Amino acid sequence: MRRRLLLTLAAASAALPAAHRQVVAQTPRADARLPVTASFSILGDMVREVGGGRVAIRSIAGPEADPHLFQPRPSDVQAIQEARLVVRNGLAFEPWFDRLIRSAGYAGPVVTTTDGVQPRGMENHEHGHDHGDGVTRRRQHYVPPRQVADPHCWQDLRLGQAYVRSIASGLAAADPAGADLYRRNADAYLQRLAALDGWVRAQIATVPPARRKVVTSHDALGYFGDAYGVRFLPAQGIMPEGQPSAAQVAALIRQVRAEGITAVFLDAPGSAPVLRRLAEEAGVRVSGRLYADALSPPDGPAPNYEAMFRHNVGLLVPAMRGNA
Ligand SMILES: [Zn+2]
Repeated sequence: MRRRLLLTLAAASAALPAAHRQVVAQTPRADARLPVTASFSILGDMVREVGGGRVAIRSIAGPEADPHLFQPRPSDVQAIQEARLVVRNGLAFEPWFDRLIRSAGYAGPVVTTTDGVQPRGMENHEHGHDHGDGVTRRRQHYVPPRQVADPHCWQDLRLGQAYVRSIASGLAAADPAGADLYRRNADAYLQRLAALDGWVRAQIATVPPARRKVVTSHDALGYFGDAYGVRFLPAQGIMPEGQPSAAQVAALIRQVRAEGITAVFLDAPGSAPVLRRLAEEAGVRVSGRLYADALSPPDGPAPNYEAMFRHNVGLLVPAMRGNA
């Protein structure tokens, strides 16, 4: 139906002189919603919550797509060109998306959801510190700052709330007529996320502190760990590239055995072989699949940001206790 209408318009415009063709091209589309393009599925879901029916959201890296390694299609350029607002995570999470913005020649507004967020692990450890006696000494053991900032800030629901506030401001600036709606939607969503944050804390509190240790495929849950008091031991770094070395895997296996860790989780579709081998050699089983960097399809266990936390925590708590 829509396609037929476009073809009819194209045929009509081809029959008109150039001056009239311009008028046809500027006629508002049947879809009057604000076109917004987000880099990956989790940001797209947040935009959908805040934008409601006023926004037509497109996520370039969709459900089950790994945003680290995503390869855009030529048609994705059009999704940027047609957008009136673009939403990205930043902190070098999606360099392919920044290249897409450039090749699309997009000059409209861009929301970077990590603007104003202090990335974890990037504090400068080199400075001296006070031991309480007024004397500042050099730290005994130098801890080098991370080489790269951890971009997975949405895994802390309080930082997720900061994302939602940035998105609401960006939508209101791009579409002032919808500002009241965006604020109301954002307020309701922020309240739900704050309640979910409390639920996550209450759930984690049921696990004895010594058992709050989890092996994952890549370092995607560091913010979750910092926020909710869980120690994550990732087989791979912040970027899930290449394979961990045999020595790294052996060290992790020793640690799983020595500390009696029972929670071993996949966090990306491509990470299965190394994790399965690790679990087998450590004498534990893979506890399941966490959603870290992408949502599931609508009929899966993590179709939106809130469901992702309920799914992950629902798997993590029994697995950490050892009775998964
Ligand atoms: Zn990741």
